[in-house]
Amino acid sequence: MVSGNQIYNTNLDGWLTVRLSKKQTLIPDHEKSGVYGIKCHKCHEIYVGQTSRNLKSRYQEHIRYIKNNDPRSAYALHILSNRHEYGNINDTITLLKRINTPVLLLPYEQMYMQSLHHNNELIPEQHPNEHNPMFELLQRKHLTSQPT
Ligand SMILES: [Zn+2]
Repeated sequence: MVSGNQIYNTNLDGWLTVRLSKKQTLIPDHEKSGVYGIKCHKCHEIYVGQTSRNLKSRYQEHIRYIKNNDPRSAYALHILSNRHEYGNINDTITLLKRINTPVLLLPYEQMYMQSLHHNNELIPEQHPNEHNPMFELLQRKHLTSQPT
């Protein structure tokens, strides 16, 4: 389990690494929006998602679903139903593609889902092209009510 303090510390380390290694971009990946992969620590399979906010908020949301026993995302469903494990933010969530144009989020998400699916790396609870319209509606509503 990861406490709030640990998330804060590892994220600070991430900040420093990014600052030292890439002088041209001072924004750490966790502060960016786009398509991300979030990994299961037990079977190493990956869930693909997209966010117009930032990776850190999405990571914290998925972890909150798991802690609340609320399988609202396929990732939470995978961890909960298989009793698998997640790790801290740095070795669990990865930015696959930075996207600042919201209309491109879904096409790129589909593209990454398809490609991971072909490599048998996508978590089985997530099926490409099978969207739950109710979940998407809730997600959009959530996004517009939280403009951060
Ligand atoms: Zn797993």
